[in-house]
Amino acid sequence: MVSIRDFQQLMREIYGERDLRRGDFATYAWLVQEVGELARAMLNRDRRDLQEEFADVFAWLCSLANVLNVDLEEASVRRYGRGCPKCGKKPCECEFK
Ligand SMILES: [Zn+2]
Repeated sequence: MVSIRDFQQLMREIYGERDLRRGDFATYAWLVQEVGELARAMLNRDRRDLQEEFADVFAWLCSLANVLNVDLEEASVRRYGRGCPKCGKKPCECEFK
């Protein structure tokens, strides 16, 4: 079992130096490209592709968070750990959109 923080640290170990050299907006552009590839995998309904693209999106999200010095685990739990950030409920009771 690996925590979000551990995985983000793993991405820092593997790619941290390159991510810093590339910079925030170029890393963001890669993240957006991977999100596009996720959409393509959804259309193709290929299980293996889907898993790979989810992994790539998450890896690039971790890289971007590393460049911007954001702890994804801390940020995510702070925002969603107690339920919906808007209504505070689990499950959310906000108007369905
Ligand atoms: Zn809500």
